[in-house]
Amino acid sequence: MKMFNVTERRREIINTGILLSEKGLIQGTGGNISCRTDKGFLITPSGMDYRGLIPEDIVLMDLGGEVIEGNRTPSIERNMHMQIYLSRKDVNAVIHTHSIYATAIAAARQPLYPITDNQIALFCGTVPVADYAPIGTEELAENAVRALAEGSGVLLSNHGALCVGKDLNEALIKCEMLEIFSKIFILAKAAGGGFVLSDEQVRCEAEDLRKRYGQK
Ligand SMILES: [Zn+2]
Repeated sequence: MKMFNVTERRREIINTGILLSEKGLIQGTGGNISCRTDKGFLITPSGMDYRGLIPEDIVLMDLGGEVIEGNRTPSIERNMHMQIYLSRKDVNAVIHTHSIYATAIAAARQPLYPITDNQIALFCGTVPVADYAPIGTEELAENAVRALAEGSGVLLSNHGALCVGKDLNEALIKCEMLEIFSKIFILAKAAGGGFVLSDEQVRCEAEDLRKRYGQK
């Protein structure tokens, strides 16, 4: 990913927060957003309204958990973001939301099984659910990293959802799509139960889509 200057990245994080609010994927001061830089990562401050943020409010941290730049207290979930950057070299952006339908499935501690093939295209099959741990704990970070594995989305038990991407835009699209697939999943249950695609169907379709779907 091209590394823009840090001020530019801070603006990009604020714009992403505003977009997430407008799309109803985060509410109030909830959720948190970060992106990787050459020094570590930039992350939203704890408990501040996205619409009132200025670039200086976005905190720059290193991958050892120290604040390098910024006067604000970084997000309570900073450790979860940091552990993802440490374990996934391909990830340059992390977004955690409390979007309603994904959170409802997370509250049921149920994986989001693929009942549409569109979900295979975006998430390569099931979106897993991480074991429960309280907000902002080391345990939550470990559980999220373990459940996310090599995927691009994870549900956080009794809490919310998290998506990653090669950049902020990709992570934002994943958050939007995770919410849509969660809504479809819940509606399909109400309609008599969604038919879960088999592991073999998921594997074949994921392989096929890798060749035929999107830009090369
Ligand atoms: Zn949260």
